[in-house]
Amino acid sequence: GKAIVAKDLTKVYQMGEVQVHALCGVSIEIKHGEVVAIMGPSGSGKSTLMNIIGCLDRPTSGEYYLDGELVSGMNDDQLALVRNRKVGFVFQNFNLLSRSSALLNVELPLRYAGQRERQRERAVVALEAVGLADRMDHKPMELSGGQQQRVALARAIINDPAIILADEPTGNLDSKSGKEILSLLLDMNKKKGTTLIIVTHDPGIAEETERVIRLYDGQVVDS
Ligand code: ADP
Ligand code: ADP
Repeated sequence: GKAIVAKDLTKVYQMGEVQVHALCGVSIEIKHGEVVAIMGPSGSGKSTLMNIIGCLDRPTSGEYYLDGELVSGMNDDQLALVRNRKVGFVFQNFNLLSRSSALLNVELPLRYAGQRERQRERAVVALEAVGLADRMDHKPMELSGGQQQRVALARAIINDPAIILADEPTGNLDSKSGKEILSLLLDMNKKKGTTLIIVTHDPGIAEETERVIRLYDGQVVDS
């Protein structure tokens, strides 16, 4: 099966009287274990597409299957369940809880998914996988940007997701930390076969992926 099958997706935002057509008939397929970059200028629909792929939002029309499951017609609760089970998120600004330790941040998806068993143990294993076991009691402020993003990576893999969605994961990092984060992501793909989808403006990152999907004005212009 395929990790991602999207058929003729549209997304229309209603802004008062005005309609914004953010996606206009986007069809894509991504295989299990693929490493894909999504590129395109600002306003081309990347965030909108990622929100749909990550089950944070629904298309206006079209069908979307994640890991074989039709999710485009689901209600909010069903969507949240699929999201918590299948998707790991990595953001440009890390999105960590600033008052919580690295360990608590990493445990969070397990709590959302109602998986109470071995929370602590699994979070420690995930932090070990990103080389941060010795920083697990630190709060985000006490960590460098690269370390914060590694905490976010540990949080993204704690549920063994089918796909990892990374939105400009190296955008706020110096080039050395950025390279470390990218190779950790690629490692996870190699070791676990996790499908990796990276939104990026950086041609250096796109080069490390297997395929680039290019958006322009809400349409796929190259894939
Ligand atoms: P990108 O991530 O490539 O910058 P977006 O998906 O954020 O593109 O935006 C695509 C288009 O949809 C843009 O014209 C943007 O202004 C519009 N848009 C995005 N989100 C919303 C929203 N919540 N409400 C209204 N318009 C939106
Ligand atoms: P990026 O280009 O880094 O993806 P954007 O500025 O396109 O960031 O979007 C940031 C957030 O704001 C997204 O969640 C997007 O859906 C939302 N957004 C973008 N354009 C609009 C808009 N015109 N009105 C409301 N929300 C928007």
